[in-house]
Amino acid sequence: METIFEKSNGADGINLSNEIKNINFLPGNLLRTKSVGLPQLSELDVMRHYKELSDLNFCIEKGFYPLGSCTMKYNPKVNELLSSLDGFNIHPNVKDEDAQGILKLMYNLGKALLEVTGMDAVTLQPSAGAHGELTGMMIIRKYFDTIGEKRTKVIIPDSAHGTNPASAKMAGFDIVEIKSDEKGQVDINALKAALDSDVAAIMMTNPNTLGIFEENVKEISDIMHSNGSLLYYDGANFNAIMGYTNPKLMGFDVVHLNLHKTFSTPHGGGGPGAGVVAVVDKLKDYLPKPFIDFNGEKYFRNYDIKHSIGSVKDFCGNFSVLVRAYAYILMMGKNLKHATENAVLNANYIKEKLKKYYNLPYDEPCMHEFVITGEKQKEENGVSTLQIAKTLMDENTHPPTVYFPLIVHEAIMIEPTESENKQVLDEFINTMIRIAKECKTNPQKVLDAPHTTPVKKIDEVTAARHPDLNFKG
Ligand SMILES: *Cc1c(COP(=O)(O)O)cnc(C)c1O
Repeated sequence: METIFEKSNGADGINLSNEIKNINFLPGNLLRTKSVGLPQLSELDVMRHYKELSDLNFCIEKGFYPLGSCTMKYNPKVNELLSSLDGFNIHPNVKDEDAQGILKLMYNLGKALLEVTGMDAVTLQPSAGAHGELTGMMIIRKYFDTIGEKRTKVIIPDSAHGTNPASAKMAGFDIVEIKSDEKGQVDINALKAALDSDVAAIMMTNPNTLGIFEENVKEISDIMHSNGSLLYYDGANFNAIMGYTNPKLMGFDVVHLNLHKTFSTPHGGGGPGAGVVAVVDKLKDYLPKPFIDFNGEKYFRNYDIKHSIGSVKDFCGNFSVLVRAYAYILMMGKNLKHATENAVLNANYIKEKLKKYYNLPYDEPCMHEFVITGEKQKEENGVSTLQIAKTLMDENTHPPTVYFPLIVHEAIMIEPTESENKQVLDEFINTMIRIAKECKTNPQKVLDAPHTTPVKKIDEVTAARHPDLNFKG
């Protein structure tokens, strides 16, 4: 009998191309004749290589991440466990009766999101905030087509996130930009001047991208509605108001929520997200289909939606992301309001401590984030905002968002989020103060930063214009 040492096995034992030749199902001329030349490495070599690469990455597990306009960075580990439960792992084409638990979860999540937004109907399909914007704008367009009004324009404040004009344009609208006033809010006169019978909607986020609450939102909604126009709410900053007010009360007709910005699901490096869209009653018949419905007995995918814009995502959206958001909502309960409070409190705390050292263009109470600038440092010490951001990289801190919103020169947009403790905030404050002082005493050190990263200054223009995408062996 063949002993265990004689069995042909392992790397030399199996010659895949020979096996394939024997099976003879591929034409000979398609078969590889030479070795592929893959690097011969042990499992340990490969593991260490990838570990080393991952160690070079900065992530929330390593330190503070005050990146503005990106909101939550907290992804509870228990979400991962729950979203990978066996029962959730079923084929998306199963019949409704074999997916009652899954449909019920989606239905209940939808109901919870209607409760927090105040809206009347919801779709869970879109897979990002920007995708939700496109969905919402398509709904608005279909609505006006259906009621026989030709409206071609969408008004967008100059502080808006870049996805707003992009989404409205993709949905076929022309963009009319209006400027902000000296308080960083929508300029009512500019709005009135831009308004005519061609205007379908305004897209706004509130608080806006400066972290400032739009005080005149009710007046804006009255002005828009009396013109027969609709209001779209970009819910990316919803974590600043959740539980205290809602887009329905403010007069909005369509809303998207980024589940990764308010309900703890991963941002995912541009990967699967969820940008659910909720609407007021009169836009319900325009939502994407299928729509998750309940007839008192069973949950089902309802395809019978009169003016539906069609489907915007295969099956029912990114289901495992929806599970994470639902888990977070159930775990938090009334603490959802505390998340809102902490997000706002933490931002105001840092703003107040830093305003002596950096220019604060809008000196008002902020919501979940605020914008300071490096203008003073640039003028007095020749150090730009970019260099201040790079200096933070030496301090185990992710840089804030810089040069956005576009209406603020040398912008530094800071969003501490709801989940950091006071010690972390104080350390960040001290670091920022130290950098401001260093700009005066040793500007060259700031100009030469980062000092501790494996890659120092990169030529960003060349990297963007002529990216070198070749693998070098
Ligand atoms: C993040 C963000 C968006 C886009 O959302 P994504 O989920 O990244 O597509 C839109 N508007 C604002 C204000 C944002 O902060």
